Amino acid sequence: MNPVELIRKKRDGGELSKSEIDSFFRAYLGGKLPDYQMSAMLMAIYFRSLSDVETAALCRTMVESGTVMDLSTIDVPKIDKHSTGGVGDKTSLIIAPIVSSLGVAVPMISGRGLGHTGGTLDKLNSIPNFNVNLSDAKYVSMLKKHHCALIGQTKSLAPLDKLLYALRDVTATIESIPLIASSIMSKKIASGLDGLVLDVKTGVGAFMQSLEQSRKLAKTLVEIGESYGKRVKAFITDMNEPLGFAVGNWLEVKECVECLQGKDVPDLMRVSLTLSGAMLLLADKCKTLDEGIEMSKECLRTGAAFEKFLAIAAAQGADTAPLRDLSKYPEPKHHETIVADSSGYISHINALEVGLAAVSLGAGRHKKEDVIDPKAGILFAKKVGDRVDKGEVIATVFTDKEQAIHSSAERIRLAVSLSSAPLDPMDKVLEEVK
Ligand code: URA
Repeated sequence: MNPVELIRKKRDGGELSKSEIDSFFRAYLGGKLPDYQMSAMLMAIYFRSLSDVETAALCRTMVESGTVMDLSTIDVPKIDKHSTGGVGDKTSLIIAPIVSSLGVAVPMISGRGLGHTGGTLDKLNSIPNFNVNLSDAKYVSMLKKHHCALIGQTKSLAPLDKLLYALRDVTATIESIPLIASSIMSKKIASGLDGLVLDVKTGVGAFMQSLEQSRKLAKTLVEIGESYGKRVKAFITDMNEPLGFAVGNWLEVKECVECLQGKDVPDLMRVSLTLSGAMLLLADKCKTLDEGIEMSKECLRTGAAFEKFLAIAAAQGADTAPLRDLSKYPEPKHHETIVADSSGYISHINALEVGLAAVSLGAGRHKKEDVIDPKAGILFAKKVGDRVDKGEVIATVFTDKEQAIHSSAERIRLAVSLSSAPLDPMDKVLEEVK
């Protein structure tokens, strides 16, 4: 294998064979190909893309770079959900306990925040002592006993993806459909699941900002999953406005606990229930999506989903006292409110700007080694479509970093637009990808 020839072939728009892809990427995994050549290949892929056959070959090399978990000893369907990332996107913490309380195993392997988007692992880490780094054996035993495990990518799971992901992050090559699709699906396939529901975000706060790009990503993800014999469903959901009222790790956990206890946050619950209903459908627990949604609502009503969340958290080492009594969590040192300077109707809350403000407050990372402040974030009092009167509070920002508070509050103020005419909030579930 001559790496320069393969880079040139892709750079000039050629199609790499399965064995060329395999040998190039395996050489990198084995430390026989330097970062600069892999960076050049990634950039060539970013500009020239990959065919469906190349994408499938890359995904296979990533899957085979590590262990494929054997979940055959778990005798219920194993169905996960994956979101492509957004702001205030906390549906995993609502969906996983709902679906696992209904007799479906949820092997949920999540990531950390990336750029302006939040990550489930960072949210879970805001719960004192919640351990997301389980061994493979503990992962399987959690799935057997609790029908759910909420963990991060283990060392043995698609290690090639882990290496490539870190390199893509610092070479501006994240936003490539074949690279995103093979990265996501390699981890999912290696996790041992039977089926997957995909939540592909679209809009200013998503990695794919146009509906066309999001559809293309969704189709690629579905095709890869199906080529492995997995049952896959994908939805496109809106990420122009943050989901729910809370952005920031503990604030989001708190909002999820309230929802698990029966609170209705309409946009958040609309997306969460659609996805949990679809998971139940893939698991053959119901005949229609609507039936799956009703089953999900029922286990929220009975409290079964909240009890399940507490049981999962306790089994993964968490101190559940602040989940049972939210007032037990430490308060952030500083807060500042953003008030309306005129009256009207909220017409837009820019999710990208909100996500960037959240990072500056300490809810995300500018650099890999930054330490997250779990209490930092933004709590909105209004959503798109709401009436607001001059002087009324639109949002409050929270942080321990006094120096960040005014600039972040100002950023949030500018992220909110008002209109004089009333408008209806849009349905956040835009379409199911067929
Ligand atoms: N999430 C992933 O796991 N991989 C990507 O490339 C992007 C988002």
